[in-house]
Amino acid sequence: MANLKLSHIYKVYDNGHKAVNDFSIDIADREFIVFVGPSGCGKSTTLRMIAGLETITAGDLFIGDTLVNDMEPKDRDIAMVFQSYALYPHMSVYENMAFGLRNRRMPEAEIKERVMKAAKMLDIVDYLDRKPKQMSGGQRQRVALGRALVRDPKVFLLDEPLSNLDAKLRATMRAEITALHKSLNTTFIYVTHDQVEAMTMGTRIVVMKLGYVQQIDTPMNLYNSPYNKFVAGFIGTPQMNFFDVTLKREHDTVTIRFSNGDSTDVPYEAVSKIDSRYLDGEKPVIFGIRPEHIDIDKDGGLKFIVTGVERLGNETIIYGKLGDSLGEFTLKDEGNTIVVKLVDRDDLAVGDVVYAHPKMNKLHFFDKETEITLIHNIPLHNTIEARVSAGALRAIGTEVILPDALSKTLPEGSVELAIPPQAIVKDSDFYLKVARIEKVDGKNLAYLQNGENYLFALVDDCVTEGEDYGFSILYDKMTVKANGKDVALPIEDEVSLNGRFSKKELRENGERVLHFYYNIDKYSIEAEKENGYKINSIDKDHCYDYTYRYVLNRDNIRTVSDGEDGLDVDILEKLDYGSVCYAKAKTEDGQELLIKTDKDFDGTKAKIAFDAKDVSVYSTRIDMMLC
Ligand code: ADP
Repeated sequence: MANLKLSHIYKVYDNGHKAVNDFSIDIADREFIVFVGPSGCGKSTTLRMIAGLETITAGDLFIGDTLVNDMEPKDRDIAMVFQSYALYPHMSVYENMAFGLRNRRMPEAEIKERVMKAAKMLDIVDYLDRKPKQMSGGQRQRVALGRALVRDPKVFLLDEPLSNLDAKLRATMRAEITALHKSLNTTFIYVTHDQVEAMTMGTRIVVMKLGYVQQIDTPMNLYNSPYNKFVAGFIGTPQMNFFDVTLKREHDTVTIRFSNGDSTDVPYEAVSKIDSRYLDGEKPVIFGIRPEHIDIDKDGGLKFIVTGVERLGNETIIYGKLGDSLGEFTLKDEGNTIVVKLVDRDDLAVGDVVYAHPKMNKLHFFDKETEITLIHNIPLHNTIEARVSAGALRAIGTEVILPDALSKTLPEGSVELAIPPQAIVKDSDFYLKVARIEKVDGKNLAYLQNGENYLFALVDDCVTEGEDYGFSILYDKMTVKANGKDVALPIEDEVSLNGRFSKKELRENGERVLHFYYNIDKYSIEAEKENGYKINSIDKDHCYDYTYRYVLNRDNIRTVSDGEDGLDVDILEKLDYGSVCYAKAKTEDGQELLIKTDKDFDGTKAKIAFDAKDVSVYSTRIDMMLC
């Protein structure tokens, strides 16, 4: 039994190929985690790093509370099952299962007890004398499982264990491995490229693509709320339908317009979490709908012609093309094809012209460029129209004085504000009625009625539906656009400074002791020793020549008085955002950064300091966090 923690794990192979990028997950004891993704996405590499068969380039791997990056595989208390079974051909099943235990010099009696127990669990007691080649694929895979089982490991790692088996046997073995997991109460990590295996077996699934984690979630959350188009398309068969569309809102209705000119209407309530910028009838959007979430009717919705029918018994898969003529589109026109899964319905034939009705609570929309979902549980932004005039902002039916930092920079006239829900805080600048409160991810998401639109805010437990909610905007956290161009950007919480890395060897109590330092301009802070060694082990002796990016939260920067150790900066500008003030500062080596200041600060110089423990170190040569 063990929990695992992977923290910012990277793998760069010796040929420079970056196979795994910034992989982080906390795996609880007894979870069944599945890594899934197309071939080459880095699943096996990650599993092999956990097993200790592959070195970890950067990041920390904990099994239980122990950092195991440099621990030998045999000491990690894990067992791995491979696709190829990896059985010894000249040994009997019994010998294969006993082999690892004998190497550990376990007494024969205990070996026998363990092998028999595992053989019973896996139903291979009758085969213990056979050689692997006298067994079927499924039986061999059971032996491979048995060999892992006898070791009673803390963690089971399984790398595509079923991919050599035929479809029927795979289904049986899936169920057996799931049952095994339940009875063993051990942590399982399972690699597969097969989404059905992932969905049926995992308590949580990690979807990967090209070395990057796309989403970590429960099977049902992946299915219902895919984070991006890739996850949406990867989970579910037949695949989700995708169409290039635009969305246009008219009061209570949003029209989804397809590239061939067809359209279908949905109630605004079904898509109210989509940022209003996407509802202008122009911005390209990808519309996704699963085949099983489409009804077919004789009129109404989206017209298409049936081009294929697959009858699978109780299910029928209908293939079609939007429009009503077979000649209108070629089969290559991906965005114009549609797949529908119908249950207990068998009245359609090739050539029929019918109408698709997407189920209103099952719609998915993605940004055309980033392919990220447009429907987040907690919306990323509220977009609202506003006007700037003589240093004041008119928005939400109220006029407020703009803080100095914005009144100086915002152009007069109409602007568009994009405000994250987190930047709407209880106060008294604006008032809106709470139309609804939804519990999301343990938070209270309030739908504030702003004319025909909602403004989303996160509110306390004591806020109730129907009340007038008073709030203000954290102006430093919003984006402002004028004529389509950004005229103010949110201020990030993180500050990033480039610098060097160095070491000093000092004599302490007669021993030579190494000390490592982060050096930014003339400011030098001592690195935590383990981090110093990490940087040194990743970049070897080049580390003293390379430039690193030091990143820290702005709240961890303090100003210090002249006599103290610190980084000297010139103050270029003061930025007063009302609730918070910043100063634009410049180091002597020319790097600019924003620091937080008091409202009454008016110096031209400052000295800042921070602690090494608050600093994350990034390589500047390859996009990688080192510690
Ligand atoms: P998956 O298990 O998802 O199919 P892998 O983890 O095996 O993917 O591989 C991820 C990527 O790393 C692939 O592009 C693969 O070609 C590459 N790769 C794997 N092993 C090595 C290696 N020893 N040297 C260089 N590149 C490798």
